[in-house]
Amino acid sequence: MLDQYVHELSDWLRIPSVSADPAHAGDVRRAGEWLCDYLEAAGGEATLLETDRHPLAVVDLPASRESGRVPKVLLYGHFDVQPPEPMELWDHPPFEPTVDGDWLVARGAVDDKGSLYMLLRAAAELAREGRLPVDVRVVADGEEEVGGTSIVRWVEADDRGADACLIYDSGMQRPGEPAFVLSARGALAYRVRIRTGTRDIHSGMGNAVLNAAHVLMRVLGAVLPREGRLPDALRVGVQPPSDEERAAWALLKTGLEWITELGANPYDDRALEEFHLRTVHEPSVDVNGILAGKPGLMNTTVPAYAEANLVFRVAPGQDVRSFADAAEWLMHAAVPPGAKLELLRDAMVAPAQTAPDERAVGMAADAFELVVGKRPVLLRAGGSLPILSALAARKIPAVLTGFGLPASNVHAPNERLRLTDVPMGIAAARETLIRLASLRRN
Ligand SMILES: [Zn+2]
Repeated sequence: MLDQYVHELSDWLRIPSVSADPAHAGDVRRAGEWLCDYLEAAGGEATLLETDRHPLAVVDLPASRESGRVPKVLLYGHFDVQPPEPMELWDHPPFEPTVDGDWLVARGAVDDKGSLYMLLRAAAELAREGRLPVDVRVVADGEEEVGGTSIVRWVEADDRGADACLIYDSGMQRPGEPAFVLSARGALAYRVRIRTGTRDIHSGMGNAVLNAAHVLMRVLGAVLPREGRLPDALRVGVQPPSDEERAAWALLKTGLEWITELGANPYDDRALEEFHLRTVHEPSVDVNGILAGKPGLMNTTVPAYAEANLVFRVAPGQDVRSFADAAEWLMHAAVPPGAKLELLRDAMVAPAQTAPDERAVGMAADAFELVVGKRPVLLRAGGSLPILSALAARKIPAVLTGFGLPASNVHAPNERLRLTDVPMGIAAARETLIRLASLRRN
């Protein structure tokens, strides 16, 4: 069986569906067509929807019996891949999938074709056997790696909805230890522009005239954390972790391990002990760039203009719009008379959260525990995942998981999937689909 899986998946991996490179736009489309063909062969009805960039594949695979009266399950993944460069660091050509020891090596072997393949194969097998117990809809995009949002717009506009969504696009921290990601922080990005006069002036006027760089520092200072916490106005809605979640942190990589591995340093004295709390339960802010005056040039001017960009991460439980109002108010309140602040909002993604006690989560966890032999640890992501936010807004419980490993080299040369995880991932998806059949909307 493993040979057949590797053979089918390799066929897909050979298509260089690099979404960031316009020269590969045709390949991204071909990868979407491959998915449609694969599921049509199992009785699915497929459509390749055009978007502004790369097409979206939507395939309905109806339940073997009582379609329309059984739960609806959405399976999501993406068929585009990261660029393979630098080529010279690959042991095998990235688009010529190669079995090397215990691994299948190719760009996309894990992120995300190899992972999505497990879902497709599980649904197709059940459909072919006449044992698919739920109405499956697969939706997959070809622009995940370039921040495409057509999948979000599709979820928002889809009238049919779903009772649950299963996504294979993350991984395990250790082999044989599955993890479910149930929440993600939201994101709010701004460009901050300060003007304090019509032109730069001689610093002989210093201390008498407004300096745009100084004003910018005050504006940024108004939203920066103190002792690891954003100002109270930006913490409305923050939910403390449950005892179960705190207990689960013991199973995860520690803050010290993360920070050391990244070559970084803790923000303050308590950043190590509060690592998991700060990265998933609390909101945060980071200034990503600052421009003011003429750094590097010895000069004696008072700059009249300064700008910065920053990103807030909004915690699950917080309302991103109220958060934005509060953040804008704090920044405006820090501006002295005479200075002008302009705030340009670049992105706004709501935080996403599926409750750990959702029935669909319990069923999927039971399925994984049975197949893998270990109950999945329930996690929250510190980053932002627009698809999870869109599903949360539609009240569709979503489980984000997968079988990639830290050694899978995702987004790096020699991306690889551990061969023994392929049948396991397929079996876990099969078992999850079977168990979700007893899910009904209340
Ligand atoms: Zn990726």
